[in-house]
Amino acid sequence: KILIASVLVAYFAMKWTGPSFDPESLKGARVLVTGASTGIGEQMAYHYARFGAQIVITARREKVLQQVAEKCLSLGAQQALYIAADMASESDPDKVVNFALEKLGGLDYLVLNHIGPSPFAMWEGDVEHTRWLMKVNFFSYVQMAWRALPHLEQSKGSLVVVSSLLAKMTSPFTLPYTSTKFALNGFFGSLHHELAMKRSNVSISICTLGLIDTDSAMEKVRGVTDVPAYPATEAALSIIIAGATRQLDLYYPWFTYAVTLFKDMFPSTTNFFIQNSYNYIP
Ligand code: NDP
Repeated sequence: KILIASVLVAYFAMKWTGPSFDPESLKGARVLVTGASTGIGEQMAYHYARFGAQIVITARREKVLQQVAEKCLSLGAQQALYIAADMASESDPDKVVNFALEKLGGLDYLVLNHIGPSPFAMWEGDVEHTRWLMKVNFFSYVQMAWRALPHLEQSKGSLVVVSSLLAKMTSPFTLPYTSTKFALNGFFGSLHHELAMKRSNVSISICTLGLIDTDSAMEKVRGVTDVPAYPATEAALSIIIAGATRQLDLYYPWFTYAVTLFKDMFPSTTNFFIQNSYNYIP
């Protein structure tokens, strides 16, 4: 009980003493959101639109992007442009950042959110899929961040990385995905140190999400686990606020923070819970 109370106090103290969010700060902000045709990325595009931002969105499906961009304009975006791109390609990550820089005349927020589809199943040795997923979920993030950094430096901008509780703790059924998220946290957590040491103007926000009710996530876990899923629109808003207030870490929902503390203190108990939270018969 004392442990849980301390965690709660620490969490809310962190939240309450953090900088407050000014929605006006996003009016006219130049934002690039990846993976914005569906799910959390799509919801982030709509929130940025309501705040009056200028947005570039990207994903592979052009037709869907067009519909999302039209809705963004109707919600109040100052600009809503889209570019279709495949993040497994060597050249598309740079192409997307170049497009946003050219069309928006610079960049205030780079929100890296996309993920490639990956099976929710026991690892059966598919090395090629893992290699491909690393390109989509990890290397493209590194490439886009590097291309955008000098421009974010100029604008005192922010780099927002959408990560997962599965970047902090391991889990069955998602080995390639979990590996890409651990890689992201390692890279961008380390980059944060270097930027701070160089007195850079750029902030990095690493967002730790629990289970969110997007179609792609729900399709995978339906009937497999009873872990509660949280609303994508609320997750999206929390990510935007974390970026706008330049917080290094976001935990959504709040208890993901407690879970990360608990698993280091009680690793065996955590492993027991993880393995028993899925309906699996060998
Ligand atoms: P979705 O599967 O709903 O969306 C993925 C997005 O990425 C889509 O816009 C998709 O569009 C795009 N995409 C897929 N493959 C590629 C590719 N090769 N090149 C470019 N774009 C691609 O994901 P969620 O909204 O559920 O997740 C968003 C983020 O939140 C991810 O980083 C995820 O890891 C994180 N997260 C989600 C959780 C959840 O429970 N939902 C939990 C924890 C973290 P298209 O198919 O048109 O290319």
